[in-house]
Order: sequence, then C-alpha cells, then structure tokens
Amino acid sequence: MTAAPTLPGTVTVRVPAKVNLQLHVGALRPDGYHDLATVFQAVSLHDEVSVARWDGWQVVPAGTYADGIPTDEDNLAVRAAKLVAERCGVDESLSIRIDKDIPVAGGMAGGSADAAAALLACDQLWALGLDRDELAEMAAVLGSDVTFPLSGGTAMATGRGEQLAPVLARGTFHWVFAISDEGLSTPAVYAELDRMREESGESVAEPQVRPDLMAALRQGDAAALGQALHNDLEPAAFSLRPDLRELRDAGVEFGALGGIVSGSGPTVAFVTESHEAALDLSVSLAAADLCRDLRRAKGPVHGAQVVAGPRD
Ligand code: ATP
Repeated sequence: MTAAPTLPGTVTVRVPAKVNLQLHVGALRPDGYHDLATVFQAVSLHDEVSVARWDGWQVVPAGTYADGIPTDEDNLAVRAAKLVAERCGVDESLSIRIDKDIPVAGGMAGGSADAAAALLACDQLWALGLDRDELAEMAAVLGSDVTFPLSGGTAMATGRGEQLAPVLARGTFHWVFAISDEGLSTPAVYAELDRMREESGESVAEPQVRPDLMAALRQGDAAALGQALHNDLEPAAFSLRPDLRELRDAGVEFGALGGIVSGSGPTVAFVTESHEAALDLSVSLAAADLCRDLRRAKGPVHGAQVVAGPRD
C-alpha cells in the first residue's frame, strides 16, 4: 500500500523498541499468566505513529515492516486510540499511519510500542493534558508491555511486566539485532516453555533479576552485560526454531560480547563493545546468511516523544 500524504493537523510520535536484558519467568499461574522479573532497555529502532482526524477509522501501514501490521480493530494503536476516546469522552475517529521500523512479532514489543505512541499522540491531538500516571494506567489496560515504551531508558519490570522501576545504567551499549523472516507467536513460546518445564519436572524458582546484571549496567560494562544476558524463554524459542541457536552461537563466535533471543523471539540481540564492533559483527553475520535482516542500534534511548504536532 502507498503511504498516505500527511493529513492536516497530524500529530506524530516516535517510539522505541525494547530488548529484555534478563527475562525470568515464574510458574504458570491459575489465571494463565506468568509472573515475570525482567529488565527492559529501549533501543534506537523506532516506529512512528501519526494520528489525524478522519471520517471513520483507518490504519495506513508504511515503512520497512509495513506488511505485517494488522489494519483492522486488532491493531494495538487503534485499540489505544479508542480507549483514550472512550475514557475522555471524545467522539471522533482517526486515520492512524504507522511507519514500521520495529520487526513485527519479533520479540521487540513493536505492537505495544505503537499502542504507547497512539496514547501520547491522541493526548496531544485532542489537547487532553493527560499526565504520565493517567497514560501509564491506560497503557497497563492495553497490555503488560505498553507501559515501558512511554518512559524508555532502562527499567526493571515485575508482576506481569507492567510494574516498572527505573534502573541506573551508565553509558551507551551497542547492539546488533538479527531479524528473522518469520515471527514467533508469544503465546506459543510461553506454551512451549510450560510444556518443557512439565516434561522435565523441574521446580520453577520465584522470578528474580540477578545482581550481575545490575552491576554491569551501573558500571556501563558491556563485557559484563554480555555475560549477564539471560532469557528463560530462550530454550522454548530454540525448541520451536532450532536455527536461532545456530544464529546466536554464530554471533558470539564472530565476536559479540553476548547474544540472546529478544523476549519471545525470534529476533536475536547481540551486545558489542563499540559502534565499530557492531559494524564488523553485522558484516560477518550478513556473510553467514543466517537471518533476513541485520540492524544496529544503541541503548538506552528515551521513550515515546511527540516529534511533529498540529502547530508545526
Ligand atoms: P512482544 O515482544 O510484546 O510479545 P512482539 O514484538 O513479539 O511482541 P509485535 O510486533 O508486538 O510482537 O506483534 C505481535 C502481534 O500483534 C502481531 O502478530 C500482530 O498481529 C499484532 N499487532 C497488533 N497491533 C500491531 C502493531 N501496531 N504492530 C505490529 N503488530 C501488531
């Protein structure tokens, strides 16, 4: 689909992807959820969500990963905008353009990022003056990963992932993201983890972020961060997609300080010691032809921000 030209009065919000530096998953709860303990870092892969008044609801996909975006009511940005309208008594419909540079179903919470961006964009478009707490409350209604992209940076999350506390992180980390052809469904990866745990009979520990990660972040030590990366979902992602293990191992062999499946995958994230090292790693991984795309990014970066508004 061709991208629509910018409509008059459009508000645009830029929002980052996330990588989980550690993801600890508790036992399956009776309500079907898992308790988590995780540390998110916002990284410089961004979507842009633009909203403008329109006669009816429409989603206009654009950008690198435009193809994977739902254009109906299932789109999280539409759900977010409708929630704001309902809560604030606004009787208007919108055209929502999504410039998608975050891989879809890639374990980088792109859909959640778009929802967070839509909350902020609607607040601006309709001049509602919502404060951070009100936005965060609506974000938590939409999904457990929607709160983090509002603030960005580096943060620890507990509960279902929606209870956030900032984490002290010094310096900038240089990432390479290896992006797969096909997405992985988050519920399928959790189901595989539950199946593997049941089969092995292992007891599941209370989820807890380890001090090695906190120390690495506090010191801005990329090598220590590489060693501290951990994801309980990784064995399940490898079980569903054995090629991801090969990709992770290749990146580490080619000089990454550490590699990890991002969230529920299939994106594999590598931390490197510098911008140049990230470039070198991208070249080596591209030559090995093990993934669809390679993207470099730095983190932490700030959260969702209005980059163009009706007064621009
Ligand atoms: P997470 O890490 O939060 O599990 P993810 O990065 O693996 O998410 P998303 O890109 O957020 O995956 O998309 C998951 C599913 O959500 C997609 O398969 C898609 O059908 C649906 N979806 C709804 N809204 C969006 C959106 N705005 N962008 C991308 N996917 C969306």
